Amino acid sequence: MKQRLLFLGPPGAGKGTQAELLAAHHQLLHLSTGELLRAEVKAGSALGQEAEAVMARGELVSDALVLAIVRSRLEGHQGGWLLDGFPRNLAQAEALDGLLAELDQRIERVLLLELEDGVLIQRLLSRGRADDNEAVIRNRLVVYQEQTAPLIEHYRNLGLLRSVEASGTVAEIGGRIVASLVD
Ligand code: ADP
Repeated sequence: MKQRLLFLGPPGAGKGTQAELLAAHHQLLHLSTGELLRAEVKAGSALGQEAEAVMARGELVSDALVLAIVRSRLEGHQGGWLLDGFPRNLAQAEALDGLLAELDQRIERVLLLELEDGVLIQRLLSRGRADDNEAVIRNRLVVYQEQTAPLIEHYRNLGLLRSVEASGTVAEIGGRIVASLVD
């Protein structure tokens, strides 16, 4: 099975849920920049204070800040990993390529979790996180279309991308994900 993975897809597609299950099952390091940022906010660190207002608006926190978080976790890590919520724009993707070249590692597969907007919004509204009210959700979807969706072409051109239909039960989606990582 592929061991160095990116999960791509809109907010609400279920990246976090699926990433956690897959990582636990296959002993991969699960790096969710959203979760790591929320932990910093909760801890009240300088970094968290910088990120909090940006996250509450559904905008992206600075590339430098997010890259520093990812770098500190990947440096010195030997086994497989799964990046979830990063990269989120082309600058982050290029910075990641640089970091991985430095660490002599390669992305083996990028999974795009696809789901229609109506279902995404319903899922996010039922989740009830601080940044999950309707206006902020709509902004996160706009930010996704404008900044993150261009990564689909980027990774498709590199021959790394597979699409996974992200509707159905957690188990059904999980089965599709595993199937798209075996070859
Ligand atoms: P979702 O995918 O459901 O929107 P995340 O937990 O991935 O949720 O991210 C929540 C928020 O954290 C984002 O709206 C953004 O403000 C911030 N964030 C997470 N990852 C990044 C990243 N790679 N670059 C910039 N901001 C990020």
